[in-house]
Formats: sequence, C-alpha cells, structure tokens
Amino acid sequence: MRNLSVSVVLVLLSFKLIAQDPAKILTSIFDEALTDRTAYKNLEYLCKNTKGRIAGSPEAEKAIEFTKQALINAGADTVWLQKVPIPVWKRGSEKCRMISSKNGKHDLSITALGLSVGTSEKGVTSKVIEVHDFDELKALGKNRIEGKIVFYNRPSDNKLINSFAGYAGAVNQRTAGASEASKLGAIAVIVRSATQSLDDFPHTGVTHYETDVNPIPAVAVSTIGAEMLSSWLKADSLLSVSLVSTCKNFPDSFSYNVIGEIRGSLKPNEYITVGGHIDAWDIAEGAHDDGGGCVQAIEMIRIFKKLGIKPKRTVRAVMFMNEEMSGTGGKAYATEAKRKGEIHYAALESDRGVTSPRGFGFDADGQKLEKLQALASWFVPYNIRDFDKGGGGSDISPLKAMGAMQIGFMPDTQRYFSYHHSANDTFEKVNIRELQMGSAAIASLIYLIDLQDL
Ligand SMILES: [Zn+2]
Repeated sequence: MRNLSVSVVLVLLSFKLIAQDPAKILTSIFDEALTDRTAYKNLEYLCKNTKGRIAGSPEAEKAIEFTKQALINAGADTVWLQKVPIPVWKRGSEKCRMISSKNGKHDLSITALGLSVGTSEKGVTSKVIEVHDFDELKALGKNRIEGKIVFYNRPSDNKLINSFAGYAGAVNQRTAGASEASKLGAIAVIVRSATQSLDDFPHTGVTHYETDVNPIPAVAVSTIGAEMLSSWLKADSLLSVSLVSTCKNFPDSFSYNVIGEIRGSLKPNEYITVGGHIDAWDIAEGAHDDGGGCVQAIEMIRIFKKLGIKPKRTVRAVMFMNEEMSGTGGKAYATEAKRKGEIHYAALESDRGVTSPRGFGFDADGQKLEKLQALASWFVPYNIRDFDKGGGGSDISPLKAMGAMQIGFMPDTQRYFSYHHSANDTFEKVNIRELQMGSAAIASLIYLIDLQDL
C-alpha cells in the first residue's frame, strides 16, 4: 500500500513536471508523429479505396465509414455522424475537338466543372472566342458572343510567390465565367485550368450560375490544351470546337460530417475544432485536397490519447462533407453548434495540401495576435516559423460568427496547384515525412492553444 502511494506520488510529480514544460510535450508529440505510420496508411486507404469521393457518391459513403472507424481506433471518447444536406452532380462523357481547315482536328484534355449543366449526347459545335477577363468579354458584346463558345485563357500569375494569390487571381473565370458569358448569349465556356503548371491535367472545381441567367455547359481545359487552342485560333480564327459534356445535376440529398472528440478535462463545454474535408473531386484521389487534412485531424486525436495529453477543453476532429460543391458540411456543423449553445474557442483547418509545414495563420488582432505569435518560439526546433495574421478555412468560417478564433494550417504551397482538383492529386504525391511533420505541428499548436485563455 505504502509502495503504491509512493509510486502514485512519483507519477503525479513527474506528470506535473512534464505538464509545466511544453517543450517536452512538443518533443514527445513530434517523436510520436515522426515514428508512426497510421496517418500515412489512413491516407493511402482514402486515396486508393475511396478515390473520387464527391458528396453523394458511394466512395464518399465508404470514406465516412472508414474515417469513423479510424477515429474510434485513434481512441476518441465519442464518434458520431452529423447529417449534411448536399447537391448531387454526376459527370458524363466528355470530348472537346478542335476542327480547323488549316490544322485539321485535335482533341483537348477537358473536365466538366462541378455543378455545371451538360450538353446533349451530340454536344455543341461552334466558333470560339478567346478572352482573358470579363471586361474584354463585355467589350466584345452580344454581337460577337451570341451563339459562340467562350474560351477564358487568363493564366495564374506565376510571378506571385504566394501560389494561392495566383490561383485567386485566375479562378473567377471558373466560378463565374459561365454566367457572364451566358448573359451575352454564349452557348458554352471552356476555361483554362487554374494552376501554375504547364501540363495536360485538366483541373475541375465548382462553377456557380446566377439565378436569373440561362445555365450553359462549362468545362476546364488543361494548360497545354489552352495554349494549343490559343495558338490554333491565332492561325485560324474560323476554327470551331465540338464539345460534349453530358454531366447532370440531380435532386438534393443527404450525407454526413464525421466527428470524433476528446472530452475536455476542465472546460468540457468549450470546443476546439480541427478539420479537413472528406469529399474530393470525382477525378481525384484527393490526397493533398483534402484527405491529408482529414488524416492529420485524426492523428491529433491519436497522439493526444497515446501520450495521455488531457486537453482542458473538448477537442474535436471533424471530417467536413461537401466542401467542394457548396460548403454545406461546415454550415451544418456551425448550425448544430449554435443550436446546442456550444462555446467555440478556436477552429483550425488543414486544406492547403500536406507538404512541409511552414506555420499557421491566425484571424486575430492586437494583443491576442501577439500572444499567438509568441507561440512561434516553441516551434523553432522544428523549423516552423511563420506565425502570421490571416488564416482559416472555408469549412470552419461559419464558426467565426460564434466567436471561434480561425486558424489556417500553412504548409509550403508551391506544388499545391499542380495537384489541386485534378487526376494528378494522388497518394504518391504525398511525402510521409512532410505529412507527419504537419500532423505534429497541428497537434502541438492545439496543445499550446488549449493551455492559453485568449
Ligand atoms: Zn480542399
């Protein structure tokens, strides 16, 4: 009995010592993440067995079941599914053929844009007008556009060091190009893929139709295809394109977010959410976007449980459904949180790929931001140094209205748009070491944030 109490006291003492030294906790978190392959294996399963898991697909349902089990295996105290309304859209057959009296015929690599309406089986054939932005389109006017296929060919600006800024500068052609062209009577749009790479992978992504416009078919063409179409048009402005894309929208349905949590030891009614999105485009394995973010969130739970880290607040890993088409997973999660009167202290999203971690972005100001930036000193041994203002993610953004501090995981992003929304986003593009470093960084930050009262 005496021996038992002595050992209990010793254990408590040593626990207290470790608890007072975040540097030691961080070392143990990194040691665990860098020597365990669970997250990498989970990602391999998602990529190879649930490829193309767009919301509403059988692959998405399989991914829900798998990540639910992965959270149970990780040791989460509670794991459950949360109902999410979703749109249902399915790709059909696709073909895009240039027909020129000068150059002959050539097929381009294309992919329908998500939520796009389709053509008939026969497709549409028309002359093509190349533009680079909406001003140029409007200047051409209805006379020149009506009855034609509009080809948007503004590249991402490769001079921008921040690849997300390059993407942001090009992506409105994809999201709004069909609506703008339809207003002038165009019959379809072909959009240059939003990527810094020059290759033959077409990159999909959602397109939105304004409510009062006639929806017209919209596809993305690979950057090599875009360059070729542009050069053929220069040689032969009378060139026509025959476009087939028989994708379809179906009635709305339901799917699920997957949630696992560790109950808080001191403030169980305050929540920290860490998430990625479980859906991925139908043409992709969804390794970097965003299976990697999902397995990193699960890994945080596994590491906390394995090391006996007991967060003060309730910490959740959330696999959000349907980020890609209309973000309903994030909205459903925030709606339910509000209904239950939950207090959301912080939320972190990993949805920028799973390359080497550079740091975190915080949607905070003043003293709060200074306190968060001071946490960077703990990460110096791991060469993770960027603790900047500005960050979050589309799935966690609905929690902002409830006061949740928004945090974005910031890996190196120079390669991200080579993979993003394309068949090039495969498991093989993920490096285990980089994935593990990201998991360790996220778990460490959440551990440190939970110690604070910001
Ligand atoms: Zn994503």
